[in-house]
Amino acid sequence: MSVGGNVDHELWAKVQEYLRAEFGKDAYDSWLKNLEFKGLEGGTVTISARTPFIRDWVRRHYASRIKDFFSRSNDEVYAVELVSSKSKAAAEDAAENISVASSSDVIEDSFGAKLDPRYVFDTFVVGKSNELAYAAALRVAESKEVPFNPLFLHGGVGLGKTHLMHAIAAEVRRKHPERKVMYMSAEKFMYEFISALRFKDSVAFKKQFRNVDLLMIDDVQFIANKNSTQEEFFHTFNALVDNRRQVVLSADRSPTDLTGIEERIISRLGWGLVADVHPTDYELRYGILQSKREQLSGPEISEEIIEFLAKRITSNVRELEGALNRVVAYADLVGRPVTLEMARDVLQDLLRANDRKVTIDEIQRQVAEYYNLRLAELLSARRARNIARPRQVAMYLSKQHTSRSLPEIGRKFGGRDHTTVMHAVRKVDDLRRTDSTLDEDIHRLSRLLAG
Ligand code: ADP
Ligand code: MG
Repeated sequence: MSVGGNVDHELWAKVQEYLRAEFGKDAYDSWLKNLEFKGLEGGTVTISARTPFIRDWVRRHYASRIKDFFSRSNDEVYAVELVSSKSKAAAEDAAENISVASSSDVIEDSFGAKLDPRYVFDTFVVGKSNELAYAAALRVAESKEVPFNPLFLHGGVGLGKTHLMHAIAAEVRRKHPERKVMYMSAEKFMYEFISALRFKDSVAFKKQFRNVDLLMIDDVQFIANKNSTQEEFFHTFNALVDNRRQVVLSADRSPTDLTGIEERIISRLGWGLVADVHPTDYELRYGILQSKREQLSGPEISEEIIEFLAKRITSNVRELEGALNRVVAYADLVGRPVTLEMARDVLQDLLRANDRKVTIDEIQRQVAEYYNLRLAELLSARRARNIARPRQVAMYLSKQHTSRSLPEIGRKFGGRDHTTVMHAVRKVDDLRRTDSTLDEDIHRLSRLLAG
């Protein structure tokens, strides 16, 4: 509950400053400046946009950062709700806000998340990189029996994990309306669990979860290091699996690479089917853009533009969609057809970011593989030389091949301090001069990273 609306408004002003600093003046002026802070209640911040279009845009591109900034100053905040001030939009919102919790509504609405109507199997474009995950998700949605338990989907951000989970929910709801389906982020799970503890109704909490036929928890990496939540999650998970109820989980990495989660939990997570979504290739990006183009109303998008975007925006599908939307929105706004020049201009920042090809994640993966280590070891606190040295090499390469700052790199390496990173960079720099094996390792790794 919020006390003192002024304090909240001050907080919002601060969040706006952060947003402006992070996304730059142009983006800020176009999308964020005119957002209106409506209030903070029960851990949810409500923000209003002037049109449904802006609302959707902000929801897709900025909502998670807005939430991060809020939670930085106020750890009660766990969700950001975007609404639009037009009344037609209000109706639309209501339609979207269907709870996934259960078709028969035995489970309280507050326990499920919202089902995004766009995230269905029909709109998911299948390619080499995601065909296993897609097939597995479809199987879970269509099977009478539990085909594999759990289904564990993992892969980098923006590659369609959440989309697939929502698609499963939508499909099960359509085909088997009697089944109870629950979808929730791991973060929300933790929040509900902690509230239940605080209000001493953890028995009800347990019951709610253990009654479902299909439980989906998104982004389980979030509960790493959160011990009591992890414990509760594990009990829930076991109870459901033992009762032959389907569980679907997602994470940004594979079960074996989840650090901060107990071994016994990890091993059980891998019992079912583990399916990864890989980064996209050109064909898939091209296919996705074509499919999005068909769904969009508005300015004509030429083949040339589609090819340009598919070639240049390689990071993930979320950014790819974002790029297309941005170009379309811009062309619509200025009333001119979309040209290549316009796309280059409007997408400057994205294009630049996508040119910086190598990510810290890739470097970590590559280095771990090169030195025959598990990613979890590389990111662990262990100081044994055979692990610590590769870790320093990975930090060094991160400094060299990305434009990330030392604190950012430190965060990516299990939350280490920037001075640790600085030390690693200097150390490796020094060693290279005298240790020709190390020097050769670094040359090789650099070549591997350059692809
Ligand atoms: P993740 O959960 O893996 O971070 P999301 O499921 O949120 O990623 O996907 C990000 C965006 O990209 C969503 O809007 C989603 O609809 C879209 N998307 C991802 N993969 C595909 C695909 N194969 N086909 C169509 N849209 C996709
Ligand atoms: Mg997701």
